[in-house]
Amino acid sequence: MRWICKDEIEECLTQAWREMADNAKAELIAAPDEATRKVILKRVASSNVWREFYNLLPDSLKRKCWYCEAEEIRSDMPVDHFRPKNKVEDDRLHDGYWWLAFDWQNYRCACTFCNSRRVFDETEGGKACRFPLENPDERAFTPEDQAKLSNERPYFLDPFNPDDEKLLWFDNDGLPIAKPLATPEQQTKVGNSIEIFHLHESRIVRARNKVRLEVEKQIRKIKDNDDAQTAKAKLRRMVKDTEKLSRAAVVYLRAHRELPEVKDILNLV
Ligand SMILES: [Zn+2]
Repeated sequence: MRWICKDEIEECLTQAWREMADNAKAELIAAPDEATRKVILKRVASSNVWREFYNLLPDSLKRKCWYCEAEEIRSDMPVDHFRPKNKVEDDRLHDGYWWLAFDWQNYRCACTFCNSRRVFDETEGGKACRFPLENPDERAFTPEDQAKLSNERPYFLDPFNPDDEKLLWFDNDGLPIAKPLATPEQQTKVGNSIEIFHLHESRIVRARNKVRLEVEKQIRKIKDNDDAQTAKAKLRRMVKDTEKLSRAAVVYLRAHRELPEVKDILNLV
């Protein structure tokens, strides 16, 4: 996972989209009961708000899943509601954050692996309606709970939180782990994220391992002075936040931070 800058998103939303979203939200708030709200949320016009949002994003933000950094988002609806709109599995009494259904700040682009629950022989995961909090007593239940909402501390990683990407680390087999010296809370946060985003699923683990091997290959070239310029350019591209699995590339490159070339690429100088 890499940090996604919210300002970049806001800049590409049109007046027409904002009006469409505002109208949909007003209708939802005015709905007399839960049944009416559910009907509104299921309408084609509602999914158009999410689809149009996705269409307005620049290509650089659509190249990969914001949670797992897998390259292809093959999904009918690649927009995940970060705070689930229908129910919250971590609090059975919660009716979902339905009032945020048309709020773009609640949207994250996600692949189906991260978005939907999947159970395999070796692993299981997927976000579905999960939304654990580090401070569950502060959970917002209604649109009026605005103060509580801003105090909620999600107990898993959020691409909009600039501090979160640094917590995620990978071992030399490509498996996700917490960063070295993480606090117990940070370890839980990463542990929850591994399950919620199915980050330990075997295909993406293998893909990260390939990233590690590629980093090692380019590092050897730098050490052997064998076309070091090209190797450096390649590594610089791999760690760019728009490239797939770039957090893994950063972690594997950091293992060689004693090299001045690596220090330079990772801005450690
Ligand atoms: Zn994903």
